[in-house]
Amino acid sequence: MTPSQLLDNLLSLILALLRYNVVLTALAIVLAFPIASLLALGRLSRYRLICYPIAAYINLLRSSPLLMVMFWTYYTFPMLVGGANLNVFYAALLALTAFEAAYFAEFIRTGIQSIHRDQRLAALARRQGVQFRFNVSVNRIELDAGRVSRVVIDDEVGIEESVRADAFVVALGSYSRLALRSIGISLPIYPVKGYSITIALKPGDEAPTVSLTDHERKIVISRLGDRLRVAGTAELAGYDTEINEMRCEVLVKRCFELFPKAGKLEAAQYWTGLRPATPSNLPIIGRTRFPNLYLNTGHGTLGWTMACGAGRALADILCGKTPEPDFRFLGVERS
Ligand SMILES: Cc1cc2nc3c(=O)[nH]c(=O)nc-3n(C[C@H](O)[C@H](O)[C@H](O)COP(=O)(O)OP(=O)(O)OC[C@H]3O[C@@H](n4cnc5c(N)ncnc54)[C@H](O)[C@@H]3O)c2cc1C
Repeated sequence: MTPSQLLDNLLSLILALLRYNVVLTALAIVLAFPIASLLALGRLSRYRLICYPIAAYINLLRSSPLLMVMFWTYYTFPMLVGGANLNVFYAALLALTAFEAAYFAEFIRTGIQSIHRDQRLAALARRQGVQFRFNVSVNRIELDAGRVSRVVIDDEVGIEESVRADAFVVALGSYSRLALRSIGISLPIYPVKGYSITIALKPGDEAPTVSLTDHERKIVISRLGDRLRVAGTAELAGYDTEINEMRCEVLVKRCFELFPKAGKLEAAQYWTGLRPATPSNLPIIGRTRFPNLYLNTGHGTLGWTMACGAGRALADILCGKTPEPDFRFLGVERS
């Protein structure tokens, strides 16, 4: 055989192997993907009987060399199932599919888990027909024949737009009072300004890992993963939302009195917000005298705590049902 013939033979062998490998890999990917999707869903299952065996399979395959898996599918697998030896191509396809399914399953699982639960909640809401509009502002509420006929807003680019609906819910926190004043509804809500500081934590910082309330220092401390948030103070300053640095420094000082090694105090971020406070510290939820206008506001110091319960109660009221909690919801008669 001449050197050029040898080279030709070698080249055609390489080309044949390449074709073989490309077909094998493509087929394995196509087959592995649906299997991986099922494995990922099973791995996320609440039931241990489902998720533990799947986790064991994934970890075993991911920690085994591919060559060993191929060896096993060609020699051991046929013995286990009591059949004849597999054709080399099918053995390789089975091994690659099983191997890739284990890897893809982890990509899919981590992809699903990387989506924040709030984004999932938003997606569920959108599926139900919710439209989110950000950076729009409500200008006025207009009435006609004893009902709200439309809400006039400035849209995302500042152009006036009418929003019409079967029912309207005012949930503007401290600003609910201002929005309703023009249609003759007076709400006992007053903005009570509060501050929070947030400290970024590093490994080794000695910060609490659970939520704490210190009544004496009038602060609450929450651990948010690798951040520590300290909130407190109550200031009556109308709708002013300027940050008063001195008040924030007091929060920092009180936190570091308790936890002197809780991160770098110079790196604390300051924030201020308005609590929609009512005289009783109870929220105002329910119907107004206008049949298609509802309220969900005035949650004061506990708006996050009450958010889900208040939303649920309001949904019941909108659907004509009596909410379960024994609470004085506006316009709801209890028998
Ligand atoms: C420092 C601090 C710490 C707190 N800590 C806690 C806590 O630990 N637990 C807890 O449960 N609660 C806490 N709260 C209270 C909680 O923040 C409030 O009760 C809650 O935010 C009220 O929610 P809301 O949606 O009714 O009002 P807001 O959160 O005030 O939201 C109202 C929204 O309406 C918008 N808006 C107003 N007017 C208009 C308009 N004309 N057009 C368009 N949009 C408008 C505002 O921009 C705002 O985004 C804290 C509050 C503060 C200030």
